[in-house]
Amino acid sequence: MKKILNYINGELIEPKSNSYIDNFEPAKGEVYSLIPDSDENDVELALQAAEEAFPTWSKTPKEERSAILKKIADLIEENLDTLAEAESRDNGKPLALAKKVDIPRASHNFSFYSSAIIHFESESHDMEIGAINYTLRQPIGVAACISPWNLPLYLFSWKIAPAIAAGNCVIAKPSEITPMTAFLLSDICIKAGLPKGVLNIVHGYGHKVGAALTAHPKIPVISFTGGTQTGESIAKVAAPMFKKLSLELGGKNPTIIFDDCDYDKMLNTTIRSAFANQGQICLCGSRIYVQKGIYDKFKKDFVEKVSQLKVGNPNDKSTDQGALVSKAHMEKVLSYIQLAKDEGGKILCGGEQIDLSAKGLNGWFIAPTVIEGLDHLCRTNQEEIFGPVVTITPFETEEEVLTYANSTKYGLASSLWTENLSRSQRMAQKIHAGIVWVNCWLLRDLRTPFGGVKQSGVGREGGFEVLRFFTEPKNVCIRFEN
Ligand code: NDP
Repeated sequence: MKKILNYINGELIEPKSNSYIDNFEPAKGEVYSLIPDSDENDVELALQAAEEAFPTWSKTPKEERSAILKKIADLIEENLDTLAEAESRDNGKPLALAKKVDIPRASHNFSFYSSAIIHFESESHDMEIGAINYTLRQPIGVAACISPWNLPLYLFSWKIAPAIAAGNCVIAKPSEITPMTAFLLSDICIKAGLPKGVLNIVHGYGHKVGAALTAHPKIPVISFTGGTQTGESIAKVAAPMFKKLSLELGGKNPTIIFDDCDYDKMLNTTIRSAFANQGQICLCGSRIYVQKGIYDKFKKDFVEKVSQLKVGNPNDKSTDQGALVSKAHMEKVLSYIQLAKDEGGKILCGGEQIDLSAKGLNGWFIAPTVIEGLDHLCRTNQEEIFGPVVTITPFETEEEVLTYANSTKYGLASSLWTENLSRSQRMAQKIHAGIVWVNCWLLRDLRTPFGGVKQSGVGREGGFEVLRFFTEPKNVCIRFEN
């Protein structure tokens, strides 16, 4: 059986413990590879490599760092098919989605930061009294990058690319549930000529590798994407050591549809924003609020289209929905569907597990599910489900829907559908979310900040700000004789 290996000091090596974790293929429900069950000893080894590489890498001219990042981006693009197949097999997502979104965006993260680092500037101020004050931005040291399973390579690269572009060395931990594309990235980094120790990838459990990274006093900066509860436990450990922290956490995003919207465009995009990647994108809109004038029409059309979504083999071109990432996650999502029923929700479509064993797929499939009739404050509408489950609710006024939209502890993203420009501006100002999409979804210029407010995270950054996050500012003030 294929063994995934750690990437430490430029080499692919076994974990010190020599023990491995089963890696499942979600569509088949079968083990198909083994993941290193690494621990603090492997983290220590990676740290040693990263510390040794840091003095040289941090002084390597930006142009050289940039060229290596660009080479990594190009190699990701050249290996698009292999990476997309690995991501789809590891995660259960449709192959077409991995090919169209995940892998190209991962490549783009590297090419964006290969360019951004060249154009990264720091501030300089002439004080007009015979002094100049400028900000020196220096790489910090060894950064920990910890990422989740839902968009494995894309989110992994979103952290690694800016960290190494800025001159840091990195120890990265992918989710142990979806390690394959991170493993393939190791090989790409070797081929791209990334000096040894600059990037180290240590596979394994969050409570072992992740916790060791978070608690290590020699790792001063942590970039984490994952659940709010994990973010909270990382913050508790890191805060007393005053580590620099970026936390991109969970969401419960509202989609708000006014009756003056471009209906067809809205309907097609709302299907995608609700169910892309089986609803396992932190930015998916899981609470859909529809203005009363079009509620009945929307309900009929939406349920009809959702019922037509084809759940099946991720490799088939015609598949809209693949498998959920794990058995445990599927069970969690099913328990929320039961909760919705207990809370008085009416299942309009879906609501159950799908058995595809006749097709040789013994994995974890759930029918896309639409629920109505729930209060905005009930648990189904307050807690992150992170699966193919959405609620629909009518509303009358802007004030009413703002109350609903802003009622959760989360504030990651939101979507608004209206042709009224003034209303879109008014609403954008009042919605508690880090991202407001108007008449679109998932569009993003990488120069803009990304992330949420409230319990959806802190350290919300984009483009050059991420490079600022991965550098330490130093104020240098020079006095001279006029
Ligand atoms: P988790 O929080 O469970 O895990 C995220 C990563 O943290 C994994 O690599 C995990 O390892 C690791 N980890 C777990 N425990 C610890 C610990 N104590 N210390 C350090 N690291 C640890 O999230 P999921 O993987 O389940 O991902 C889904 C969540 O991610 C959802 O809540 C989703 O909203 C959020 N998310 C947020 C995004 C954003 O940009 N705001 C984007 C994408 C997802 P292991 O896998 O071994 O547990």
